[in-house]
Amino acid sequence: MIITEQAMESQEMKAARSYVKEVYESVISRNPGETEFHQAVKEIVDSLVPVFAKHPQYMHRGILESIVEPERMITFRVPWVDDEGKVRVNRGFRVQFNSAIGPYKGGLRFHPSVNGGIIKFLGFEQIFKNSLTGQPIGGGKGGSDFDPKGKSDAEVMRFTQSFMTELCKYIGPDEDVPAGDIGVGAREIGYMFGQYKRIRGGHEAGVLTGKGIVYGGSLARTEATGYGTVYFVDEMLKSKGLSFEGSTVVVSGSGNVSIYAIEKAIRMGAHVVACSDSNGYVYDKNGINLATLKRLKEIERKRISEYVLEHPHAEYHEGCSGIWTIPCDIALPCATQNEIDEASAKILVENGVKAVGEGANMPSTLEAIDVFLAAGVLFGPAKAANAGGVAVSALEMAQNSMRYSWTFEEVDAKLQNIMSTIYRNSVKAAEEYGHPGNLVVGANIAGFLRVADAMMAQGIV
Ligand code: NDP
Repeated sequence: MIITEQAMESQEMKAARSYVKEVYESVISRNPGETEFHQAVKEIVDSLVPVFAKHPQYMHRGILESIVEPERMITFRVPWVDDEGKVRVNRGFRVQFNSAIGPYKGGLRFHPSVNGGIIKFLGFEQIFKNSLTGQPIGGGKGGSDFDPKGKSDAEVMRFTQSFMTELCKYIGPDEDVPAGDIGVGAREIGYMFGQYKRIRGGHEAGVLTGKGIVYGGSLARTEATGYGTVYFVDEMLKSKGLSFEGSTVVVSGSGNVSIYAIEKAIRMGAHVVACSDSNGYVYDKNGINLATLKRLKEIERKRISEYVLEHPHAEYHEGCSGIWTIPCDIALPCATQNEIDEASAKILVENGVKAVGEGANMPSTLEAIDVFLAAGVLFGPAKAANAGGVAVSALEMAQNSMRYSWTFEEVDAKLQNIMSTIYRNSVKAAEEYGHPGNLVVGANIAGFLRVADAMMAQGIV
């Protein structure tokens, strides 16, 4: 009897594995050259094998084939005029990936590296992340290859107005609700909201999140992704009797996510010794001075190298990956995709890292994740660890619908509750599907199940 059951199980696993392989191969052939998208799909589909083995109805209904194909991908021209009067043309994108559980929701990225594959990887991840938050939001993402760095305020305004003039045809509070991401902060959201309002002729506050507080933004949205990442890592640490108190922490990046991860880690008693930007990193053995960092990055928009001019005891090093050679207890990659490769992961492990929390999207390569998991490092994958930003964006949408505002403390308490629920649901799913302690698998499965059930209920659409 036992032997028969095992044989049955292995047959189901075999069928599930071959289904997943077939779908993954078709993703590669149908989306040539989109390497980041392939990577994001690979990470998810490998985790889902035990799900398809246990619930073959998802396979029969073709849920995986549907979920890897965006419902819609919009590409458009963004012409604008620079300060010298020269016409510039950028490319705009919006992927509306999956609306099974709610309107498309996901940020806009302005960075010269942006292309269709990057937007699709981000949109695909967003489906599962948004589902994990427990909020009614589908997955989307967008952006442009526009580089806001070095542009005047007037140029940024002209570009964002042109971008929104086209994007506004496809978004709305019940259809698709963009927010910020790399290169898109409060300034850019403000200009885009102004242009949307002008074209539509009404104050539809819920069309964008990350808005300024005076025109419909939510308190604690600015802090949410960074704080949420730290709350999530704190849950992981607590499960092993550890905490941020007295820990040495390294945080990459120095943008929105990094700054508020650093702020919360310091408030929890950590010693944050390093941060970076795309040119290099700063190591301050006395602890990063948050007031200096916020002024340099949030107000003056300067390079991180300027930090050492005010704190001469600190060191500045050119290049980004060197930051992972600094010994630390907790590493929080909060800059960009694939910033921790296998070699950096090995160095972190050799230096005794105990926990890694992904504030950025897909900051660790698949090989790096394997290194962390094999070494028993507590690993908080992006979909779970950085979901606090979009969770509070959903709370912003709720407040806009109610025409009401919660206090900072109320939003922060809801955020903490959401992060600990995501942690518990990921732990539970990992255990239930045979991978105890593996939060990559747990988060992927927990995120997938909610979307898959909604897709099953809604028929073949
Ligand atoms: P910001 O633009 O505010 O900051 C990005 C930071 O990362 C900057 O310090 C930037 O340096 C650095 N960076 C950007 N690109 C690179 C690169 N190619 N190599 C090295 N460093 C780089 O963005 P956010 O803080 O909003 O986003 C950071 C990450 O967090 C992204 O992966 C984003 O997708 C993710 N995320 C953001 C959320 C949010 O609410 N904002 C929500 C969930 C995830 P420089 O200034 O030199 O470009």
